[in-house]
Amino acid sequence: MTDLTNLGVAAIRDGVAGGDFSAVEVAKAFNANIAAAGALNAFIVATPELALKAAEVTDAKRAAGQPLGILGGVPIGMKDLFATKGVQTTAASHILEGFVPEYESTVSQKLWDAGAGMLGKLNLDQFAMGSSNETSYFGNVISPWKRNDGGNAAMAPGGSSGGSSTAVAARLAPAATGTDTGGSIRQPAAFTGISGIKPTYGRCSRWGIVAFASSLDQAGPMARDVRDCAIMLEAMAGFDPKDATSLNMAVPEWEAGLSGDLRGKKVGIPREYRMDGMDADVSASWDRGIEWLRDAGAEIVEISLPHTKYALPAYYIIAPAEASSNLARYDGVRYGLRDLPDGAGLQDMYAATRAAGFGAEVKRRILIGTYVLSAGFYDAYYTQAQKVRTLISRDFKNAFTEVDVILAPTAPTAAFGLGEKSDDPLAMYLNDVFAVPASLAGLPAMSVPAGLNREGLPLGLQIIGREFDEQGVLNAGLAIESRAKFSAKPEKWW
Ligand code: GLN
Repeated sequence: MTDLTNLGVAAIRDGVAGGDFSAVEVAKAFNANIAAAGALNAFIVATPELALKAAEVTDAKRAAGQPLGILGGVPIGMKDLFATKGVQTTAASHILEGFVPEYESTVSQKLWDAGAGMLGKLNLDQFAMGSSNETSYFGNVISPWKRNDGGNAAMAPGGSSGGSSTAVAARLAPAATGTDTGGSIRQPAAFTGISGIKPTYGRCSRWGIVAFASSLDQAGPMARDVRDCAIMLEAMAGFDPKDATSLNMAVPEWEAGLSGDLRGKKVGIPREYRMDGMDADVSASWDRGIEWLRDAGAEIVEISLPHTKYALPAYYIIAPAEASSNLARYDGVRYGLRDLPDGAGLQDMYAATRAAGFGAEVKRRILIGTYVLSAGFYDAYYTQAQKVRTLISRDFKNAFTEVDVILAPTAPTAAFGLGEKSDDPLAMYLNDVFAVPASLAGLPAMSVPAGLNREGLPLGLQIIGREFDEQGVLNAGLAIESRAKFSAKPEKWW
């Protein structure tokens, strides 16, 4: 029999529905891979029993002739930023260690309702702040990929959804949830040779997702290919009255709408993304992507997004500002950790809990955020950054009067080695340079694998679309996927 863990979402769904194999066999195969992959540190908590239970329900439904749901029989990994009822939810922070929610996030509930089962809670950068997974309290995830230089350097899986990217790339899960505030679905997908889509802001409910920067946070799927992302996103998206920023719009049938035929479409190539000193392999992969989309029938148009260079600085003001406010709730009273020194008063307890509970990067963001929101500096930083955000949205609006989607690299480089950037926050933040503009504008954007660089590491291409046009993004992604024919897999060393 074929190794079930080589199958993606659509193949598992169809195979279970058609009786080629049972959902329980699928769950067992992935559970076994997870048990054997401890060295990757992708999961904070594995929940093999929950995956099996959901599979048994699917198999019983099939036996009874009942509908299985669009994810019937598909086990998935859940980023440990989604509250899961009865299962520890930590955001990879010591401050939430031991926190077991009484409730289920809307997105995870929708996935279970669609027939999926949970393989476990995936590791991530602490509070989703980071690009390499090195800020996790539970130790960093290690990418399954290695450089082809004969060395053995451990590579970053990207961040913050690094557990998700590694789990999918290493065949520990056919798909996983991610969240993207400033690139955390797209950059880890690019680093590990998988696909991931951040939908339009508001498509997926934020209810029950540990908040980082609420005006930017969006959930989305990470999976092997574009079709699997479309299926997952259909299950995850939808209006939720419990999230005031949730879009009250019907969820399109993205899978049914997939078409890689781009005749009549225009693809914009933003001039400002072609940066001086750009990585030669990234630049070459972008050029190949342009040719692939031309081959798919699209007209290629050079466009300008003039405020691009201000996006990263604006993001690194707005995101920490919102984080400093959101993270004020971790006070030692309501969740997880409490540090109560002998004879301490309330303020001492807050301070001790936060000092012990938050990691260095989280503290850095809280400090920056508090500073830019302080009375004396608010106008100079926060108000200014919000103005820049408006200008960036306007750049995209103008561009989308002319083109249907935009093509750009996902990240400025392929994966780097663990430890290579962790001492230099600015070098780390630069990873997000191509990802944050779409985040600030709330636009749908996806990364698809586009090939390997000279070191044998995956590169991703990013497609950015008009708001609500996930279909256009997925379709351009499909056009690239069918031409890139990316089939490289990490060699199993773990
Ligand atoms: N790497 C970015 C940051 O550290 C984005 C994180 C994210 O999207 N959650 O803020």
